[in-house]
Amino acid sequence: MNQPGQLSDQQVDLIAVRLAERLGRPTTPVTAPAVATPAPEAPAITPVVKRSMALGEGVFAELDDAVEAARTAFRELDGMSLERRQKIIDCIRESMLEHAEELARHAHRETGLGRAEHKVIKNRLVARKTPGTEVLTPQAVTGDDGLTLTEYAPFGVIGTITPTTNPTSTIICNTIAMLSAGNSIVFNVHPNARECSQANVRLLHRAIVRGGGPDNLVTCVADPTIESAQALMVHEGVRLLAVTGGSGVVRQAMRSGKRAICAGPGNPPVVVDQTADLDHAARSIIAGASFDNNIVCTDEKEVFAVESIIQELIQKMIRYGAYLLVGEELRRVEETIFTEQRGPRQHAVVEKSLIGQNASEILAKSGISCMGDPPLLVARVPNDHPLIWTEQMMPVLPVTPVPDVNRGINLAKEAEHGFGHSAGMYSHNIEALSRMARTINTSIFTKNGSFYCGLGEGGEGPTSFTIASPTGEGLTGPRSFSRLRRCVMVDHFRIV
Ligand code: NAD
Repeated sequence: MNQPGQLSDQQVDLIAVRLAERLGRPTTPVTAPAVATPAPEAPAITPVVKRSMALGEGVFAELDDAVEAARTAFRELDGMSLERRQKIIDCIRESMLEHAEELARHAHRETGLGRAEHKVIKNRLVARKTPGTEVLTPQAVTGDDGLTLTEYAPFGVIGTITPTTNPTSTIICNTIAMLSAGNSIVFNVHPNARECSQANVRLLHRAIVRGGGPDNLVTCVADPTIESAQALMVHEGVRLLAVTGGSGVVRQAMRSGKRAICAGPGNPPVVVDQTADLDHAARSIIAGASFDNNIVCTDEKEVFAVESIIQELIQKMIRYGAYLLVGEELRRVEETIFTEQRGPRQHAVVEKSLIGQNASEILAKSGISCMGDPPLLVARVPNDHPLIWTEQMMPVLPVTPVPDVNRGINLAKEAEHGFGHSAGMYSHNIEALSRMARTINTSIFTKNGSFYCGLGEGGEGPTSFTIASPTGEGLTGPRSFSRLRRCVMVDHFRIV
């Protein structure tokens, strides 16, 4: 971590490169060979240019150069066979599994969010279960009038914006899905996750080259900012946008005039009714809501429990390790985690420095002593409490009583704010489960399991860390990043 006002190595590298550019030295990429043979006429800057080893391998000082390099790489990939593309994806999966832990620890160290061991799980999950080229099955229709083929084609360069909450898992997931579809990528990563994201891009670059792919299929800007993200959104070399983040970046991408696949915020509710297996519900909700300290957009964020079982559910949550906030403690925690409360049923303003911190840290900051390291804080609150209506991304889970399951479903729908992101329910009443699934209308609906099961971790199916609810793709995969193209042969090629 740098002290305020102190430049990071990366910033020093950038200054060096820009200085070198002005002095007429090689501009981009400043790759290892350029460093190995410094120009003799400029000895004064040699030591600094040496540090620009950090550039290259997909990392560019200038956005224009990153886009241009990705464009060239796209054309090369476009000329390769599907078998070679598959080999590249295999190499990426292998490398990302090998480096899953190192990248997770790097992301945790740099962002200070979540729990390193959970980030390892996320990285492994996306490396294993993000769908690849196998899902791009072409369609053939034959009949009296001949044969029609429909195939999945790439767009070209995809401008991709990633969050600070899942920096490396989003990069790995997006890369596998987008490259499988034959595209290349320019990432503008979250500034607070710049170093781990660049390390990830470099590892991907090496894996791609090892797999026989071209340089710079995956690129990023070395010094990402909101401004560079916005420049990427309107760059003429970028054919498609994929953004993962909060409402601001989604709104901005939708205004860009380009096709945008947007994965926005959520506030996933859980409903528990009187027919549920309460022991299983308590254990699974705690595991889900505490996953990576609740910074994952799909994590359980509030619970609506039928009045007759709420007390038993909370008791079981305590048995599985949750810390119940009682009396004055809830008020103290609220004062710690919110900088402003805007009244009942309103989204409160959260204290940013506490996002993704351990429950024990939040307790300590609230002046509450506690033994050990509870995974989650739980509070029984009224329906209109701001904790219910706020995507706080902290391990503080509100549980609120509802008179019956229908009221729970309706309130859950309201608390989800119409994001259409994620939700779930614990019940053995199949009618209630179906009613909630239909009513809540989310991209992911998990029945009787932790919400990470809905991401394919402990549940069936592929995964994605870009869940595009506003634009409707849901869990994005190679098909989301493909154009459909049709070819019609009139009168011939039917073989029957
Ligand atoms: P964020 O919105 O602060 O940042 C996300 C990315 O967008 C970053 O790269 C940031 O630099 C960029 N950005 C932000 N505002 C921008 C603007 N006005 N113009 C251009 N670029 C802009 O989000 P975060 O804190 O990194 O992530 C948390 C949020 O993302 C939560 O709301 C969470 O629910 C959501 N999220 C959603 C998904 C999903 O799949 N739907 C996945 C992860 C996170």
